[in-house]
Amino acid sequence: MSNTITTLLDRNRQFAIDFTAADLPIMPKLRTVLLTCIDARVDPAHILGIELGDAVVMRNNGGRVTPAVVQEVSALAFMVAKMGGDSPPAFEFIIIQHTQCGAQRFADPDFQRELKELRGVDVSLSAITDPELSLREDVERLRDAPEVPDYVIVSGLLYDVTTGLVREVIKPTSLAS
Ligand SMILES: [Zn+2]
Repeated sequence: MSNTITTLLDRNRQFAIDFTAADLPIMPKLRTVLLTCIDARVDPAHILGIELGDAVVMRNNGGRVTPAVVQEVSALAFMVAKMGGDSPPAFEFIIIQHTQCGAQRFADPDFQRELKELRGVDVSLSAITDPELSLREDVERLRDAPEVPDYVIVSGLLYDVTTGLVREVIKPTSLAS
């Protein structure tokens, strides 16, 4: 077993000693889906105090709304509508991007071209040049996606990795508006 696995299993045994979350419902307490970057410095459990059972957390490189994210959000909204009983279902989607994001490298045309040629992977939709601009673009991607119901409330936050502070860039807005 690798050292990393040993360390993680040790930490898990510590975690399980005081475990009290056995009865948490599947529906998240905050009725919220968070999308953020995979960056190891940007974990909602730490920066936003997200506890077990609070929210669904989705992560990808950049925390960007890609076609895969649109599909996930669509399926989740559908599931919440089936389970929740309220109409329209309470469904908030929060996009969190951050400063010093590695997805800024995806904006380099040479990087994009080499990755496409070598591995057949297109990262153009994940590229970030200006995180405030990306947040606005991602809200528009959701608004333009027919798969996502327009009762979903979307907002955009920007996390500064040098101060630990999160700033609201896009206030909660209905996709219908
Ligand atoms: Zn990032």
